[in-house]
Amino acid sequence: MKYQPVIGLEVHVQLLTDTKIFCGCSTTFGAEPNSQTCPVCLGLPGALPVLNKKVVEFAIKAGLATNCSITPRSIFARKNYFYPDLPKGYQISQFEEPICQHGWLDIQLEGEEPKRIGITRIHMEEDAGKLVHGELSGPGDGSGVDLNRACTPLLEVVSEPDLRSSDEAVSYLKQLHQIVTWLGLCDGNMEEGSFRCDANVSVMPVGAEKYGTRAEIKNVNSFKFVKQAIEYEIQRQIDLIEDGGTVVQETRLYDPNSGKTRSMRSKEEAHDYRYFPDPDLVPLVIGPEWVERSRSELPELPEQRQQRFMADLGLPEYDAQVLTASRGVADYFEAGVAAHGNAKAVGNWIMGEITRGLNDNGLGIDACPVTPGQLAELLKLIDKGTISGKIAKTVFDEMWRSGKSPESIVAEQGLVQVSDTGAIEGIIDEIMAANAGQVEEYRGGKEKVFGFFVGQVMKASKGKANPAVVNDLLLNKLRG
Ligand code: ADP
Ligand code: MG
Ligand code: ZN
Repeated sequence: MKYQPVIGLEVHVQLLTDTKIFCGCSTTFGAEPNSQTCPVCLGLPGALPVLNKKVVEFAIKAGLATNCSITPRSIFARKNYFYPDLPKGYQISQFEEPICQHGWLDIQLEGEEPKRIGITRIHMEEDAGKLVHGELSGPGDGSGVDLNRACTPLLEVVSEPDLRSSDEAVSYLKQLHQIVTWLGLCDGNMEEGSFRCDANVSVMPVGAEKYGTRAEIKNVNSFKFVKQAIEYEIQRQIDLIEDGGTVVQETRLYDPNSGKTRSMRSKEEAHDYRYFPDPDLVPLVIGPEWVERSRSELPELPEQRQQRFMADLGLPEYDAQVLTASRGVADYFEAGVAAHGNAKAVGNWIMGEITRGLNDNGLGIDACPVTPGQLAELLKLIDKGTISGKIAKTVFDEMWRSGKSPESIVAEQGLVQVSDTGAIEGIIDEIMAANAGQVEEYRGGKEKVFGFFVGQVMKASKGKANPAVVNDLLLNKLRG
């Protein structure tokens, strides 16, 4: 039998606010355990939560950027469960009436039509603390609780079960990641858990109307693992059904070492959590003015910017997509174009040398040692014929290393391109004299030898000879 996988993602997005969602404690990462706590986030009796307005603003922006409607009167609810890292014995979340509902994102896989993926809801909630085992936990080898993370703000973005393959799931996830980082809502660090994903996976016979029973795979912390975990889980469920078994609704954990998922616990249902409206927090009322103000504050989004790069700057689709991968890259590109004008050339350098340099050094575009202005200066030197495209790469490496301007590097190292026909002719004559055999071969019809001569001349000039001039002169001389 053929099976159709069905996938829905729940994504937790840790927000980049300075303070926690219901108290004024700092959210900075890595502080001494329990140093960033107060009666509210410690869950002490009588302490009252006060909603951080910034969290609401971030949630509205996330909602607008994912085509959600903003709920005019949304409610906080208590999600009750017991765990040592949850001091109150409940998590403040939203259940009925989350802040954002009914959104969507369009994904596009290579060679396929765009596909719309529904977003059921986005709600605000507080994170739990963290259990620490071993040394760090204090005297002895026991376990301790660090509540620095308790009460830090999260958005949970829940998709409809509209995804049909691991590739679609990853494409959706990447787009969501791009949007929340683009808007500055989240640092997007998956390894540290700032952007984490639970994947719900089921399979059904192709053509069936009713979805199969799903398993929820918890906290998969890279795009690659999301793909692997989903693929493993699809196959596991198919094998199970083919062997006459049934899939049970449960929570599973993905183990990147084995590439497998394993059962963690049977899945809770909503009623297990005994949700009820939090009596300590009033309903959150968001009027249309607030929504419109937020909408007007939204920056141009990746998709719009990509379209503009294609329409106004004439970039091919691929380039426009790569150059809008992050807001930082898009800003860098536009600054480069403002300073140089040739969008295609600026784009090529960013996608080539700059990306390579950043990757090699593990840097983000914000830390790029070559500024867009300096890149433009370098390109101008190529345009003027002062240096060749090849030498430009050498100059670029030196700019990267020393931070010097391209002009001063070219001057200091004597890298000015030689276009002077006399000088180049001299080199050609020497090379032809030293390689009489190859000259004969060329004249005998073996045109491939031409490349050999170009190479020799470039080498003898240390790459400085103007390649166009070299080509012209060589053709003339070799033809005799
Ligand atoms: P919970 O909060 O208990 O995990 P939800 O109803 O909020 O449950 O659904 C969670 C996720 O599971 C959503 O992303 C939804 O799209 C997805 N989902 C629901 N049913 C299925 C199914 N049969 N197969 C795959 N995913 C599903
Ligand atoms: Mg869930
Ligand atoms: Zn606090």
